Amino acid sequence: MNIPVARTPSPKPKPNPAELGFGQYFTDHMFLYNYSPEKGWHDPRVVPYGPLALDPASMVLHYGQEVFEGLKAYRASNGSVQMFRAIDNIRRFNSSNTRLSIPEIDEGIFMRAMETLVRTDIDWVPSEKDTSLYIRPFLVATDSHLGVRASNTYMFVIILSPVGAYYAGGMSPTRILVEDEDVRAVRGGMGYAKTGANYAATIRAQERAKHKGFTQVLWLDGVERKYIEEVGTSNAFFVIDGTVVTPPLGGSILPGITRDSCLQLLRKWGEPVEERQISIDEIISVSRAGRLDEAFASGTAAVISPVGELVYKDASVIINNNQIGPLSQKLYDTLTDIQWGRRPDEMGWITPVTQ
Ligand SMILES: *Cc1c(COP(=O)(O)O)cnc(C)c1O
Repeated sequence: MNIPVARTPSPKPKPNPAELGFGQYFTDHMFLYNYSPEKGWHDPRVVPYGPLALDPASMVLHYGQEVFEGLKAYRASNGSVQMFRAIDNIRRFNSSNTRLSIPEIDEGIFMRAMETLVRTDIDWVPSEKDTSLYIRPFLVATDSHLGVRASNTYMFVIILSPVGAYYAGGMSPTRILVEDEDVRAVRGGMGYAKTGANYAATIRAQERAKHKGFTQVLWLDGVERKYIEEVGTSNAFFVIDGTVVTPPLGGSILPGITRDSCLQLLRKWGEPVEERQISIDEIISVSRAGRLDEAFASGTAAVISPVGELVYKDASVIINNNQIGPLSQKLYDTLTDIQWGRRPDEMGWITPVTQ
């Protein structure tokens, strides 16, 4: 299937690459694709970037039937552009769709849509160190209808945003507040789906933590408020007595692609790895006993984010003297080398965007 491209007659000036930040600038084009019961998914197209026309009764505005993804395209030193684990983001998108009773999108067309859009805006892929092009596919329910049910019609959109280095002054350890009141998700809910409602539930705690000077919130399980789930919008890892431990995917946790990349690399390196429940009490007690070597969070935006301090109620633990640990650094270096094409792609994680 050919994807027609309607180019904008008035391209925007490119932002200063030193001031990109995250998710502030958007490129000249976007991808659109529509669903109706009669036609299925139809009319894929790249058009000039601009506002979407939505009826005020559109179901997404009232009941939140929405799904999104986040991945990046990177410019390698030879000028070529490549996406990291794009097929895994496509599959996770369809898994989120299924949870929200939304029809799946063909994997091949989804991939072609991202390639076509990135190719159309290829001049927007920055080449300065640690910059990239963030790809945000999302989908909204468009029936004009008040009353809770699955929508019959949907709009799928992909937009692109050039983004800067996540750490302006290099990777540095974060201060994390363990949230003991609000919860993000419970088993049986939608925690494993990338859908807007999950994030709406987290904003209050995140704002409170930010106000108190913390970088992020650490989420505990929604039933016992005891087991570690995630750190903000990233997955949590601990190194205890030399063993890497991360919570298992039990339905309430987002199955991070960076999390999976870390697990695959660690196992390839022969590091001991456990996917098991970890209580916050265990973390505090192993830390007090001097057995907590490192803690870090993993996600597309920052790749690896080392945790320097954890605060839970009245207890504070400082991890690895507030320094970046050796495994955190090795994972960060290896993943970013693969992403920017500085290291061969032995894992088959790269999709080149051919021009
Ligand atoms: C996106 C996300 C992650 C990280 O997933 P990656 O695929 O590694 O970017 C982790 N937790 C939540 C809640 C997320 O939304």
